[in-house]
Parts: sequence; structure tokens; C-alpha cells
Amino acid sequence: MVASAPLPGSTEGSLPEAAIENLVIIGSGPAGYTAAIYAARANLAPLLITGFQRGGIPGGQLMTTTHVENYPGFPDGILGPELMDRCKAQALRWGTKLVEADAESLDLSVRPYRLVTSEGETVWTHSLILATGASANRLGISEEERFWSRGISACAICDGATPQFRKEQLAVVGGGDSACEEAVYLTKYGSQVHLIVRSHSLRASAAMADRVLANPAITVHWNREVLAGMGEDWLSAIRLRERTTGATEDLAVRGLFYAIGHTPNTELLQGQLELDARGYLVTRPGRPETSLEGVFAAGDVADAEWRQGITAAGSGCQAALAAERWLTDQQLARPVERQNIEPEPASPTEATATSDAGNFDAAALWQKGGYALRKLYHDSEKPLLVVYTSPSCGPCHVLKPQLKRVLTELEGRALGVEIDIEADPEIAQQAGVTGTPTVQLFFNKQLQQQWQGVKQRREFKAAIEALAAPGA
Ligand code: NDP
Repeated sequence: MVASAPLPGSTEGSLPEAAIENLVIIGSGPAGYTAAIYAARANLAPLLITGFQRGGIPGGQLMTTTHVENYPGFPDGILGPELMDRCKAQALRWGTKLVEADAESLDLSVRPYRLVTSEGETVWTHSLILATGASANRLGISEEERFWSRGISACAICDGATPQFRKEQLAVVGGGDSACEEAVYLTKYGSQVHLIVRSHSLRASAAMADRVLANPAITVHWNREVLAGMGEDWLSAIRLRERTTGATEDLAVRGLFYAIGHTPNTELLQGQLELDARGYLVTRPGRPETSLEGVFAAGDVADAEWRQGITAAGSGCQAALAAERWLTDQQLARPVERQNIEPEPASPTEATATSDAGNFDAAALWQKGGYALRKLYHDSEKPLLVVYTSPSCGPCHVLKPQLKRVLTELEGRALGVEIDIEADPEIAQQAGVTGTPTVQLFFNKQLQQQWQGVKQRREFKAAIEALAAPGA
């Protein structure tokens, strides 16, 4: 490749060219993966930092959605996590390099740009696509975690058609355009929609507000705040407080949808790039270029308005094409040569069969179901990692391959079992599991440690290594 002259303030001269990436993409939602697919097909071998705990889970907001029915190409809909798996597989197939970590810090003051990951790795890059997304704001009411995805959702457009909401009383909280749009949208599914507004007026545009106020299927509850969710396995009511009098009332609803705004994941960029008053990345109107040369934006991080999977994917494509053009214009692109013109087909994700007396294998690193759990719990002398999952749980989807990787790296010093709490509810109940994913580490029939949610690989590894160490 043609090495360019170092730019003013550049550290480029002191770094070997091979140590500098063509393009780094931060974020693994539809914007990030689409950018990666385009850049990889342009032979740029992009490096994609998936993100891990900051700004939500890898895969983005679709990982916490059930059926996606508005993404073109899937006439019968597709599960959000499955859609993201496919995007990931497509990006990998064309040569994207994945780093499963958070971007911990970013230095955009000199070129090449420098990034440090949560694993301590330093990466230099000529160009950058920021696709870190935005996190839907939550209310933080009592019982929110318990009913998350069990009645409480941040996206009516994504989740509204779920069977549990059909012909039921539903509530939306918020008074902006999103809340109004979602309330109207939900009238297609619910029997009645309650719009909970914290003030005496709607912030939404007049046209949108008029539509809500004229709709007999929507009841607006002014000046109310939501205090708590209630119910058994699924949300059945919410407690409201009238803000002037303080009087409380319970409203029977099966769904509570948050539409109280989003917060863009731009923490890393503060002081380095132009952000608007709400923290969104500012780009050239209708284009992916940010205020810095070679830095592009894609998806919700620069989009306060549309915020759909398909619009994020479209902007990821634009950002990758813009980055490719920019790298070429600057004579910085260092294309890779493909070994094979046609890459291998993407590998399908293999489901683990549930173990029974016929296929149980005492030495297998990873098995599934109550039979394997009982056998290993009683007979194995190795530490046992048990992960409780449910089929539509996006974070479980992220965590399982991480756990499998830990077990592979430990070369058989510990074993893993997956329990689907829908298939084995009594085991989950016995184990005191209240949500998924939950991981329990057993040794000598004793519970050693428990984790809830997605955690870094090194936490599990350290806990197992401490048990498996000589003399432990
Ligand atoms: P907004 O920030 O416009 O509105 C957020 C709403 O949530 C406000 O009514 C706010 O109340 C309320 N809220 C915030 N925090 C709380 C809380 N803790 N408890 C209760 N209520 C709370 O966000 P939107 O997502 O609605 O819209 C974002 C942007 O996207 C806007 O520019 C909007 O116009 C645009 N948009 C346009 C659409 C369209 O034109 N079709 C559709 C959707 C969005 P308060 O008003 O009291 O501050």
C-alpha cells in the first residue's frame, strides 16, 4: 500500500503501517454489522468492537426484542437475537475481525486514532465508524427488572404484537411523539391503551397529539407517575400516583411500554466530537461524516428520530461506503487479499441436544437439561457451571458462547450445563432462579457463586480457577 505522509500531530510515523487498522467499527447492532459487511466486502478487513456491558448488550436493542416483523426479507418475522446472529455471521463470513469487549477509551486528538478496549488491548486505526447506539431510558420503578420482557418493554413497535398483549389493557408512559405514536400503534392490539403523562400537556407534535386525543381507544391519565409494577409471572397492574394530591391508584394492565426518550451512548466521545444538546453525535445533514476527518456515525447514536433496525442498517451501509471512499482518497486503504474469492458459507449456530440416558457424556464440556445436571451434580468431581436460560432471552444468547469459551480455555477442568427454565421450571424454582440468565457455580455439591446477567468471561474463569487450583 501507499503510506501517506504523517499528518500534523500524528503518531503515524512511529507506528509500523501493519499495526494500524483500516477501519474500526464500534458497536454491534444492525448499524455496526451492516457497516462491517460492506467494509469487509471492500477487502478492508474491518475490526469490530462489539461492546459488552456499556450501552447495553452486544447486538444492541434488538437483542432484547422478541419478534421483529418489520425488517424486510423476513415475511413471517424473525427473533431479534436471531436476526443479530445472522448479521454477525454475515460480517464474519466476509472477514470482519471481532473484539468482544467494550471500547474503554478513545483518543481522537491525533491520527491514527487510538482506542483501548476493556481487555486492555490498544488499537490504532485510520478511520472509525461509531455505531454505539442509544439506550432506551427506563423509569426504574419497583419490580421493573422482574417484569422486564414480562409485560414491561421499551419498544411498543417491536413488542406490541406479542400474543400476551392481544385484546388486553395496555399502558404507555411518556408524552412525546414516540409515546403518542406507540399508543396509537398499540390500539391495533390492545383492548384499551392508557397513556400515562407526567404533566398536563403532551410534548408531541400537534398532529400526533390530536390523533391521540381523538382516539376513543386511548385514555390519557394526566399528571400521573408510575410507581410500581405488580403481578405474578406477568405484569397484571401498575400503581399510579397523582402528582398534585399524591393519591395513588392501581390500574389493571398487561403491558407497560416506556417511551420516555433515549440516551445516546456517546460518553466516550465527550469533548472530542461535536454532540448536540441531547448528546447525539452531529453529522453532516443526511450524511455519515462527523466533525472529524475519517470518523463516521451510523445508527441511533446519531439518530434521535427514526431509530429502527432497518434505518440503522441503512446508515451503517452509508458510513462504510463513506469510510471506504475517504480511505481511498487519502491513500490510506490497505486492502487485504482474499485467499478464496468465494468465502466459506456462514456456519449455522448449532443447538445443543438435551441430554438423556442415551446420549449423556460425563466428559462433555457442555450439555443441556435436568438429566445432565443431576448426573454431573452427583457424580462429577469437577466444578460445574450451570446457566439458566429462556428461549427468547437475548442476554442468554450473548452469554452462552462466552461460557462455552471459558470451558474450552480451561480444557475440561470444569463442565457446563444449560437449563432452559421454560422446559425445566421446577429445577429453576428449586435453584431459586428469578431471572435469566443466571449462572451458578457448584463444586463438591455446594453452591460457590452466583451471577445474574451478562458478565465478563474473566469473572467466571477466575472463580473456576480458584476452585480447580491445587489445594483449593
Ligand atoms: P422526547 O424526549 O420527545 O419525549 C420524552 C417524553 O417522555 C416527554 O413527554 C417526557 O415528559 C417524558 N418523560 C421523560 N422522562 C420521564 C419520566 N421519568 N417519567 C415520565 N415521563 C417522562 O422523546 P421521544 O422519544 O418521544 O422523541 C424523540 C424525538 O423523535 C423527538 O424529536 C420526536 O419529535 C421525534 N419523533 C418523531 C416521530 C414522528 O414524527 N412520527 C415519532 C417518534 C419520535 P416531559 O414532556 O414532561 O418532559
